[in-house]
Amino acid sequence: MYTRNNTRKILVRGVPIGGGSPVTVQSMTNTDTADVQATIGQIKALAAAGCDIVRLAVPDREAAKALAGIRREVDIPLVADIHFDYRLALLAMDAGIDKLRINPGNIGSNERVREVARAATEHGVPIRVGVNAGSLKKILLERYGGPTAEALVESALEEVDLLDDLGFHDVCVSIKSSSVPVTIETYRLFAEKRDHPLHVGVTEAGTVGYGTIKSACGIGAVLSCGIGDTIRVSLTADPVEEVTVGNAILKAMKLRQAGAEVISCPTCGRTEIDIIALAGEVERRAATITRPMVIAVMGCVVNGPGEAREADYGIAGGRGTGLLFSKGEIVKKVKENRLVDELFTLIEGE
Ligand code: SF4
Repeated sequence: MYTRNNTRKILVRGVPIGGGSPVTVQSMTNTDTADVQATIGQIKALAAAGCDIVRLAVPDREAAKALAGIRREVDIPLVADIHFDYRLALLAMDAGIDKLRINPGNIGSNERVREVARAATEHGVPIRVGVNAGSLKKILLERYGGPTAEALVESALEEVDLLDDLGFHDVCVSIKSSSVPVTIETYRLFAEKRDHPLHVGVTEAGTVGYGTIKSACGIGAVLSCGIGDTIRVSLTADPVEEVTVGNAILKAMKLRQAGAEVISCPTCGRTEIDIIALAGEVERRAATITRPMVIAVMGCVVNGPGEAREADYGIAGGRGTGLLFSKGEIVKKVKENRLVDELFTLIEGE
C-alpha cells in the first residue's frame, strides 16, 4: 500500500529491521532491570501482548550483570539501553544482549567508541543511535534556534558518522521529539539523506488517552510516507499498553494483518439498539481472533450492510433485533440478546 523506503537491513536475534521487512513493535520494561524475576515477568507479558523487541534500561553494573539471567529465560530479542558508560555496553554484549541503544557521541574518546564497535561486530550486535530533542547539544540548539528538525537530523548524522567512520554499519536510528510536526519533518529529512532503518516514535507522548492520539498521528504520518521500520509508542502507562497501541497503529495503517479489525458506526437517530455496548462486546471477543478479518457493528439496517459491505462479517441493528451479514449479504435475523453469540458462531463456523 505504501512504497516503503529502501533501507538497509539489520538483524536483532534474527528479527529483521529494515530492507522492506514487516514493521516491528517495540517497548521497554519499567521494572528495575537488576530485579531479574520482575523483569522476566514483564518481558513475557510484553511478548504475549505482541511485542517483537524489548528494551531494558542498563544504568549500572548490577543491571548489566542481571542481563545474562534474563537472557536465559526469554527468547524475544533484547536491547540494552545505555548512556555514557561504554563499559556497560561491553558487559551487556558479553551477557548476550541482541542490540545496543547507545550514542557514540556520549561515551567519550574515539578509542571507547572503537572498542564498542569492535565488540558489537564480534557479537553480531547492531546499534541504535537514539537522538532526542531533550538532549541536543547546546551548540546545535544555538545554531538552529531550538530543537528543530534540522538540529535533530544534524545530531543524528554526527552519531552515525562516528560509527560509519569505524566501518560499523549495522546501525538503526531514532530521532524523537515530543512534538508531532517536528517528528514528522525530522524523519522525512533524515530519510532523504541516509538509508539507515528507522525506529519511529513520538517521545514523552503522554498518558494512554492523549499519548495514544499523539503517537497515532506522529507514527502514522511518518509511516504513511513509507518511512519507518520499527515503532515504539511511549506512554506513561503499563508498557503492555504501548504494545497494544503500537499493534493497533500498524493494523489501522494496514501494515500488520493479524487478527480482527472491528469497525462500528458512530450511531445516530436511527439507532434502535444499544450499539455502543454491542460494539464493545464484539471488540472484546474479537481480540482472541488470529485470522485477518473485518467485523462491522452497524446501528441500523437502512445503511448498515451497505455501508459495511467490505466487512467479512457484521451486525446491523433493528428494533429489538438485528441482521447478521457477511460481505454485504444478509445471513439471518437474530434477537438483540443473541446477536453477539450468533455472530461469533457464524465466524467460528467458517
Ligand atoms: Fe446511523 Fe445507521 Fe449510519 Fe449507524 S449505520 S450512523 S445508525 S445511519
